[in-house]
Amino acid sequence: MIKNITGPKHAYIGSDAGCWDIFCSVLAKEYTEYNELWQTHRLTVDTYAAQHPGNPGRKEIQSVFIHLTRLYLQLEKGLNGKHANDVMLNISKFKEQYVWLDPLPDFEGTVNIADVAGAKNLDEHKHAVEKWARSVWNAWAKHHDTIKNFVEHNKILNVNRKESAYGK
Ligand SMILES: [Zn+2]
Repeated sequence: MIKNITGPKHAYIGSDAGCWDIFCSVLAKEYTEYNELWQTHRLTVDTYAAQHPGNPGRKEIQSVFIHLTRLYLQLEKGLNGKHANDVMLNISKFKEQYVWLDPLPDFEGTVNIADVAGAKNLDEHKHAVEKWARSVWNAWAKHHDTIKNFVEHNKILNVNRKESAYGK
């Protein structure tokens, strides 16, 4: 269970402080003990943000849309975290197309960060993050087409790797 404690929380990702606390401890493990920033870390961050959409404000709309797009690339298109990140580097040029995805999912019954925090080694951690990511992505099923169309319409996957790697 995630207890509702008072403490610092993310500026625009909507979550209670207890949950945010567990998320921070999981990130700390990824940075230190697991020392692998690309395989799972990207998925961890995207999944957490997608599970805590918050309220419709400019930053939240952008955050949710970008994180869901990256979830789509990793879970449906099979890109690894590094590649998904690369093709998204210039994504802000499409920001006029970001929309608030209404209605928000009911996350009832989805896997959560507490399940991930219980992993005892890197293998378990990777497995737990993947399960959590799929559970959260599935909760957004009503909006899968919007994300898919955004990726296809803007040819996100055709982005020149060199351009994406060095930015402009
Ligand atoms: Zn939470």
